[in-house]
Amino acid sequence: MPTVIQTSVVHLLCATSLFVACRTTGVGGNNYHNNSHVSSIEMPLPDKIKSLIGPGKITGSSFAVTPSRCAAGVTGTKIEPVAKPVDAAGLSAVNEKLAQGCDYTFVLSFGKLDTAGTKLEKIYLTNDSDGIRTMIEAAKTYVPKILVNIVLHVTGDGKSDLRIDDQAISVPSDGGPNPDKPQLPAGDYDWRVDAQLSDVETYAFTGNNYGSIFYQDVMSHTPVASRDFQGGLSTHAHETLHGLHSVMRNKTPASDAFFYFEQGKGMYVLEPKENLKDVKNHIGASFRALAQSRYDLYLVTQTNSWTNTLYIFDEWNAYVATTRSAVESKKSGQWDPSQNSDPIEGVVDFMYFCSASILSIKNIDPDYLKNNKQFKANFAMIMEQSSKWYNEGKKEPLWGPSKAWAKMQNFQTAADGAPVRAAVKELMGDAWTLRVLGF
Ligand SMILES: [Zn+2]
Repeated sequence: MPTVIQTSVVHLLCATSLFVACRTTGVGGNNYHNNSHVSSIEMPLPDKIKSLIGPGKITGSSFAVTPSRCAAGVTGTKIEPVAKPVDAAGLSAVNEKLAQGCDYTFVLSFGKLDTAGTKLEKIYLTNDSDGIRTMIEAAKTYVPKILVNIVLHVTGDGKSDLRIDDQAISVPSDGGPNPDKPQLPAGDYDWRVDAQLSDVETYAFTGNNYGSIFYQDVMSHTPVASRDFQGGLSTHAHETLHGLHSVMRNKTPASDAFFYFEQGKGMYVLEPKENLKDVKNHIGASFRALAQSRYDLYLVTQTNSWTNTLYIFDEWNAYVATTRSAVESKKSGQWDPSQNSDPIEGVVDFMYFCSASILSIKNIDPDYLKNNKQFKANFAMIMEQSSKWYNEGKKEPLWGPSKAWAKMQNFQTAADGAPVRAAVKELMGDAWTLRVLGF
């Protein structure tokens, strides 16, 4: 089966009615037995959905919310379908009060309102399991303790009526929704296709998560003895992720490392030939000046005891945890700026360092780069997470003075970083590199 490609969006822009299925999943439900207060869930519509709304396009919407599973002692409320017109400026965020600790099915339908304006008389895209359907990820929205996935499904009728062809929107081979699979233009790289993901065991965690879903996620997948609560919350997440990585790495005899993604999934990557000491030789002088302290610590001092190249990837992913937990906590109003004045810049150092390591690996272990799909998938996974949370951090005025912005500009444009950028492009391709890194 062909994969879903970007041009499908262009076809959908011509659509006259649409349907969006939204699924909310309570994350770590076992941890919220005693936490049954309601939470307002706000689901802003993604821009590409908003662009479908207007004269001659979407004229109505309806939504229904049903709790499918709740933790003991928690009562979820069923919200009956409500139909209403959609204005040309776009449907505003859907706000509903949902009990924390429940798993929800949230279905938002778009279509053409009947003349009475009370129900949708026609729907082209549906999550009806009987229909031939195509999944298109529209958005993913997190609020504390509730995860919202928004996916589009296309019926056979919708394809013919809206003249959406199968080359533009294809049916995934498993026929079911897969909200984690992005749609990508031809020539782009999807790490989820290559990645062999491993499951990480779940452990109870009832401590403060400071409003960060990822903090909760990391703690919930790390044994108590390997958690670390020194310093502030972003340091807890960073150090505990090292602990999680270590527990998983030590489960196998292979010379490999483990990198956590989220929601109990991560990947093992075999080490290339040891050459960590060499990575420092591929850092541009201007970036080195910006990242001197971590350059000295991780690429010089630490290489006396850590000789495996993937050691700096372990640090990289831990810095993703630093940034992501800080951003999520800030968004939820629970961030204490005195803990860490700049939780964004560290991840950029490792975006660069680990990109430069490609040059080092290429010199000593060229077959590894050519053949190890898991390395490539993992590089893409961590880089996409880095880029995502870097960009989220950039939106926060609090972090305006961060050193991250100058570092990223250097990564993207400095003349002495050209070999590093070329190495990323050679491994990942031009389309992926432009989408994720902007060069
Ligand atoms: Zn670290």
